[in-house]
Formats: sequence, C-alpha cells, structure tokens
Amino acid sequence: MRVTLSQIHKSFGAVQVVKGLDLTIQDGEFLVLLGPSGCGKTTALRMVAGLESVTSGRILIGERDVTNVLPKYRDVAMVFQSYALYPHMTVAENIAYPLKLRKVPPAERDAAVRGAAAKVHLEEFLDRYPRQLSGGQRQRVALARAMVRRPSVFLMDEPLSNLDAKLRGHMRSELKRLQAELGVTTIYVTHDQVEAMTLAHRVAIMNKGVVQQIATPREIYEDPANLFVAGFIGSPPMNFLQGSLSGGTFAFGEGRFAVGVEGDRRNVTAGIRPEDCTVTSPSNGRISARVYSIELMGDHTLVTCQIGQEYLTVKADKLAQYAMDEPIGITFKDAAVFLFDSESGERIR
Ligand code: ATP
Repeated sequence: MRVTLSQIHKSFGAVQVVKGLDLTIQDGEFLVLLGPSGCGKTTALRMVAGLESVTSGRILIGERDVTNVLPKYRDVAMVFQSYALYPHMTVAENIAYPLKLRKVPPAERDAAVRGAAAKVHLEEFLDRYPRQLSGGQRQRVALARAMVRRPSVFLMDEPLSNLDAKLRGHMRSELKRLQAELGVTTIYVTHDQVEAMTLAHRVAIMNKGVVQQIATPREIYEDPANLFVAGFIGSPPMNFLQGSLSGGTFAFGEGRFAVGVEGDRRNVTAGIRPEDCTVTSPSNGRISARVYSIELMGDHTLVTCQIGQEYLTVKADKLAQYAMDEPIGITFKDAAVFLFDSESGERIR
C-alpha cells in the first residue's frame, strides 16, 4: 500500500529532529531512509509505526489517515535491529505470536507459520529456541514473524546491523528477493550506503532532520543534489578541493584546471570521485601531484596523491606500482567534475 508523509515535523522539547518531511512511498516500493547517526531517520520510521507521535503533519497508509491511530491498528510490521524475539518461546511460537494475539484458529496459524518459515528457509528450526540460533537465523525469525501478519507495510530499522559482514551480505540479497516476491511496501532505515544502494528502489537521504535528495541509487550516485549527498555516497568518498572559479578555470591551493564554467566565483568546492581519476605521467596530467601513499585493496589500488597541502585519492588498477613521492599527473574527464557552492552546498554543476 502507498504511504504518504506530508509536512511531518517532530520535536523533542526544544530540539527539532524532523523538519518538514514530505515523502510518498509507492505501493510495493522498497524505500531506504539513509543518513548519518542522529539525522532523524529512526524517529521518522517510528512515527510511521505509531510508536512516536508527530508534532505536526499527516501520515496516510493507502487512503487512510493514520496520524492519530494506535500502532496495532495501522497494519504495519516492524523489524528491529535487536530482533526482539521472545526467549522462552520456540521459533514456531515466536512466528505464530502475532496470529495468536489476533485469535487466528490454530490450524490456520500453523499453516501460516510453516509458509513463512519456508520463505526464509527456517523449516528445520521451528522447534528451537532463539538462544540456539545464529544471528542470521534469529533475524530470519524476526522477518517471518513480520511476514506472517501480511501487513500493508514493512518498517525495518537497521535489521542487518548486528550481523557479521559476510552474513549481512547474504541476508541483504535474501531480503531483496523476499521483498520483491511479497511485493509489500517497505521503509528501511540504515546508515550504511551499501545497503541503501543495493536494496532500494529509491533512497531518501536525510541530514539534520531534512531530506536532501530522493532518487534511485543510480541518480544519487551520478547526479547528487548537493555537497552532502555527494560526500555521503561513494566509497572511498568523493575528493573535494576548495577554491574559486575564474575565466573557465578552477583554482585551488597549488593547482588549477579548466572546467568550462564561465563567471567569477569564490568559495567553490570541486568534487571528483576516486574512480573517475587516472594517474598518468607528470606531463600528461591535468593536475601535477606526488604519490603520498599506496594501498593495495585486492581488486584495486588506492593511490593517495599530494598536491601542495591537499590530498586526492585515485582508485587505480590492482597492478599499479608507484614509489613514495614519485611525481605524477592526475587526469579526469570534464564531466567527472562536480562543482558546489562551498557555503550552501548547492550544486553549481
Ligand atoms: P541513529 O542511526 O543513531 O539511530 P537516527 O538518524 O535514527 O540515528 P534518531 O534516532 O531519529 O536518529 O534521533 C534523532 C535525534 O533525536 C537525535 O539527536 C536523538 O538524540 C534525538 N531523540 C531521539 N529520540 C528522542 C527522545 N525520545 N527524546 C529526546 N530526544 C530524542
């Protein structure tokens, strides 16, 4: 079902944590709310769940205004980071619990539990207790318990963050498949850009209680709305150089390069992604630099280059070999250069 948030504000005392949130999540969509710690994303999710009241604004699920509706009547299922399983109940009892509360007859309940367990590959574990399961298995129980209710909306708060890296990657793809199969509208909160980029149909990036951009993962990467989004998405992060524009040239510290943008302007930040830069001979570069450090990352090499007082990271081939302090050139395409107003963070180009 579609979820609509309009002009949602939330304050705790004098502190405003969500400021004018407007967001429509389409029926069946997987929307990820992404942002740094404390940006207000969990609070936003908890308001949709009804676990937190709104200070002002409206929340609709489908056509129904649920702004003042109790959580249990909103028809949403929430999955938490902590799983929140009942330790004294078996897996089957945990999954069945929401149906038991609704007084669903036992036979129907058992069928639903088996169906949900099969979806998350837990059939063999139905008689175990949570303490006898791995983190990934516990998380699957929490998902099955959410699924069994057949809610209109899934709300997930960092559901994978307690798992180790390998399991997290595995559960990520399981979750993506599951959501696609069930087609249930999902709002998923994380501070992990990889989760956001891989899971989402669309990502809403928040900072300090304000949505910075809502777009597909590809658009966010290729066409960031502002300095914050540009710096938040990408690993290693986008390189930023502080300088000014004049006569079609961007000048910074000890370097300058043509950018083809007319007009004079101070306080400009140029952004170039490490993967868009190439190390060349000193005479062929658009910027002259020295090699500061080299790190072999397995399938690629990160070369940190020093230009006067500034540093720029280049993602180079795994076979790249340079000596420390070796003079080099750095080159990149015109289209790889993003320009921002340093003060407002607005994109100039
Ligand atoms: P994290 O990823 O760390 O959970 P977040 O983006 O989800 O961060 P929120 O949990 O939504 O952020 O918190 C946003 C801000 O609101 C934080 O500064 C937090 O301290 C504050 N906050 C959250 N809940 C309360 C509360 N019940 N009372 C007072 N302040 C709160």
